[in-house]
Amino acid sequence: MNLRIPGPTPCPDEVLEAGARQMLNHRGPEFAQVLRTVTDGLSWVFQTSDDIYSISASGTGGLETAVVNTLSPGDKVLSVSIGSFGDRFGSIAAAYGADVEKYALEWGDAADPAEIARRLDANPGIKTVLVTHNETSTGVTNDLETIAREVRARDRLILVDAVSSMSSIPCPVERWDLDVVVSGSQKGWMVAPGLAFIYMSPRAWEAYGNSTMPKFYFDVKRAKDSLAKGQNPWTPAMAVYFQLEKAFELMRAEGLEGIFSRHQAIGEYARERVRQLGLTLVPTDPARASDTVTAVWWPEGVDGKAISTRAREEFGVVLGGGQGKLQGKIFRIGHLGFVSKEDVQQAFDVVERLLADAKTAV
Ligand SMILES: *Cc1c(COP(=O)(O)O)cnc(C)c1O
Repeated sequence: MNLRIPGPTPCPDEVLEAGARQMLNHRGPEFAQVLRTVTDGLSWVFQTSDDIYSISASGTGGLETAVVNTLSPGDKVLSVSIGSFGDRFGSIAAAYGADVEKYALEWGDAADPAEIARRLDANPGIKTVLVTHNETSTGVTNDLETIAREVRARDRLILVDAVSSMSSIPCPVERWDLDVVVSGSQKGWMVAPGLAFIYMSPRAWEAYGNSTMPKFYFDVKRAKDSLAKGQNPWTPAMAVYFQLEKAFELMRAEGLEGIFSRHQAIGEYARERVRQLGLTLVPTDPARASDTVTAVWWPEGVDGKAISTRAREEFGVVLGGGQGKLQGKIFRIGHLGFVSKEDVQQAFDVVERLLADAKTAV
């Protein structure tokens, strides 16, 4: 099967085998060793000398962690949304009582850093900006480096959803001066779902000190204090840690630059195939098209759902569909984590063939 949704993503055999290991005492020395190795690997990928906290939850739990540890009810927040995951980040903040101003773009567009700057200047009460690095629902990568520069120049906090970018495309949290950055294990990390990863800058820890949003399971201070003892505060998704230990061996062998250039080359290849097929990318600016997921409009009059079903049943290719208002209108091909050009090539070959069938059937 060629699983080409943008997460969960396939895992290498060695990773699957590593996860099949016997359980350990999660408060014992063997697991402490695993946790240290994994935490060091995470810091390497996030490009920081600080510890990254791993929390047993899906990516959304990581976003909730970012919100509840830095904000207080009533805080003014600018929620930048270019798709369904951006909307979700803002909804979490609203659910916990933040006063959310939305900067929502047409799906397919990237956020304009100058517009973010303008809104921050117009509203000095905004303390924090929420932004998605790579919007998985539309296949658009925001210019996070420039956005962060504008936010930081105005001394506001920037919380980043890097769930489908971190580990696949560059997101150096210290160099870009980001405050809270979240990722999730089932995207570009070559392991199963179950862990969220979170970076907290020194400024974010300062905000933690003032934050009054309710928190318990997702309290990062508990994660920090436990990590100092080689533990998680709660029983962790242990098998995913075993997998990650192996995944970091593979990632370190390839090197960060190698990983980034592989994703870039495969992203370019995917977009080239879209052009050759005469199809249209969902991203309106090709320069902002994602190197981890390619989102494509189904041509007018084509039953995309039927094609996806045939792709899965007859060829073992599992395409991603559209989310929210894009449902049935687009398909997405994930190319992050354990992926080769051949995987993406096969997926496009199948789409090409089924589209040709659909045309002759008309
Ligand atoms: C997958 C994803 C999430 C989190 O989704 P979960 O299902 O909770 O893991 C958040 N943001 C983005 C951009 C994602 O791609």
